[in-house]
Parts: sequence; structure tokens; C-alpha cells
Amino acid sequence: KAKNDGRRHTCFFSEELEKQMVQRFKLETYIREALKKQTLMAYFQPKVDLITGRVIGAEALARLKGSDGQIISPNEFIPLAEEAGLIQELGRQMIVMSCKCVQKLLACNIRLPISVNVTSAQFVSPDFISSVQNIISDYNIPSHLIELELTESALVDDSDDVYERLKSFKDVGIAISIDDFGTGYSSLSYLRKFDLDELKIDQSFIRDMHENASSEAIVKTIISLATAMELNLVAEGIELEVHKLRLIELGCKKGQGFLFSRPVPEPMFIEYVLAKHSQ
Ligand code: C2E
Ligand code: MG
Ligand code: MG
Ligand code: MG
Repeated sequence: KAKNDGRRHTCFFSEELEKQMVQRFKLETYIREALKKQTLMAYFQPKVDLITGRVIGAEALARLKGSDGQIISPNEFIPLAEEAGLIQELGRQMIVMSCKCVQKLLACNIRLPISVNVTSAQFVSPDFISSVQNIISDYNIPSHLIELELTESALVDDSDDVYERLKSFKDVGIAISIDDFGTGYSSLSYLRKFDLDELKIDQSFIRDMHENASSEAIVKTIISLATAMELNLVAEGIELEVHKLRLIELGCKKGQGFLFSRPVPEPMFIEYVLAKHSQ
């Protein structure tokens, strides 16, 4: 009897596994196709001045429309793109779309930096820097209007390599922002070692700061840290008016979140910017 059960289990697991593998393979093929046909999309979410509501920049976020028309989350396809060796091309297309958006805004006399998310795999790739520079010069935009968002994990690889890489970006005027700050590595020593530009407070702390004293304490601490180190600071995931008001009280002046705008396609983003600029 026990043997039978065992067999049934094995059977169950392998079926599940097979289904998962087929699913992954389908999605991988789908990403590859999307990159080839250039149907990957960049949505843009404004970064705003919390006090005036003016747009001070934007973050580019990758979107893939599934065959059923539903949007597939980057949390699903970014890790797969990384495993399948497609992340370099995906990153390249995201930078291209961001440059195009910067260019359109410049045509309206608006200078706004757009930040692009970069995984550590992309960051450590030897031709990443030159690839970014080439795209920026192809589009003939000032390089400081493209910024990179890295997570802490990209920086903890305690090598001189990381230092050199960061320096090359800084040298050409590309700012570096630390995404999801507070959720990564426990040591803060990299902040002293690297010349960074911006910290983004992770949305998990913002979400419940109005009802969770620990979250609020962490937010306060990050604000003091950024102030003392003269780093630019952006709060992520602002959904409620109370979040915004409390952040202003605590001295955080910039943020992004659904309260202001969800990530939206380029035409809607430009419309949003123009509306805010004419107010
Ligand atoms: P992230 O860089 O931390 O981006 C912020 C995420 O929070 C985005 O999710 C955004 O849509 C969401 N968000 C913004 N405001 C709010 C809010 O008020 N409430 C809530 N609940 N969520 C909010 P998204 O677009 O699904 O992206 C998820 C993650 O996928 C990103 O996290 C980033 O790590 C990664 N990602 C997205 N696009 C790219 C890309 O082009 N390249 C790479 N390497 N990673 C990307
Ligand atoms: Mg980000
Ligand atoms: Mg984040
Ligand atoms: Mg994230």
C-alpha cells in the first residue's frame, strides 16, 4: 500500500513539474519572440515632488502583453529572461524606449530624467556600459537624463569591479539609484564605498508606516541617512494621502506611487507630464 502511495506521489509531482516546465518554456519562447518583434513595452511611472505635485522624473517598467491580451508581470518574466540569457536584449530595448521618451519630452521643452531597472546580471556584463552609452548617443540626448536603478544585491559583490563599473557610469554623468532600499543586504558599508546618487525606500515600509511603528522608524532612519549623506531620496509605493502627508512631515520630498499615477504607456505619461507642467 505504502509503495502504491509513493508511486502516486511521484506521478503527481512529475505531472506538476512537467506542466511548470512547459509553461516556462512557452513564456521563454514568448519573450524571445517579443524581443525579436519589438513588442515588449515600456510603461512609465512619474516620480513627483510630494509638495508641489510636479513631475521630477519617471521610472520605466517593462510590460509584456500575453497572447490573451493580459499584461504579464515583470516579476514573472524578468527572472525568466535572466535565466534564458535574454536580459541584455530586454535591457537594451528598455533603454531605447526610455531614450525615445526623453527625446519626446525634450521636444516639448521638458527635461526629465528616466530611470531604468538593471539586474546584477546586466550590470556585470562587460559590454553593458558601452551599450548604454551607444544608445544614449544614438538618440542624441544628454546622458544625465538616463539613470539606472540597481538593487543592493548588485553592489554587495565586494569587488573592485563593481567600483570601477559604477565609476564609469558616474564619469559619463549617469546617476545610480538603489532600488528597494532597506530590504537587501544588512551591511551599509557599500554606501560609504560607492558614490551613489539616490536611495528608493522600499514600498513595504511605506505601505504600513501609518499603522506600524517599526515601519515608520525604518522610514525615518532612511530619511536621516539620506539627508546626512546628501543622497537624493524617493519613497516608493505611495498609495494613500496619509503616506504622502507623513513623508512630507518626516522630510522626504520625493515619491512615486498609485496615489499620483500607475505606470502607464508613453502617450498617457507624456499627457500627465504636460498637464502637471501647465498647472
Ligand atoms: P521596482 O523597480 O521596485 O518597481 C516598482 C514596482 O512597484 C512596479 O511593479 C510598480 O508598478 C509598482 N508600484 C508602483 N507604485 C505602486 C503603488 O503605489 N502600490 C503598489 N502596490 N505597487 C506600486 P512592476 O512594474 O510590476 O515591476 C516589478 C519589478 O520588476 C520592479 O520592481 C523591477 O524590479 C522589475 N522590473 C520591471 N521592469 C524591469 C526592467 O525593465 N528591467 C529589469 N531588470 N527589471 C524590471
Ligand atoms: Mg525600480
Ligand atoms: Mg522598488
Ligand atoms: Mg523590486
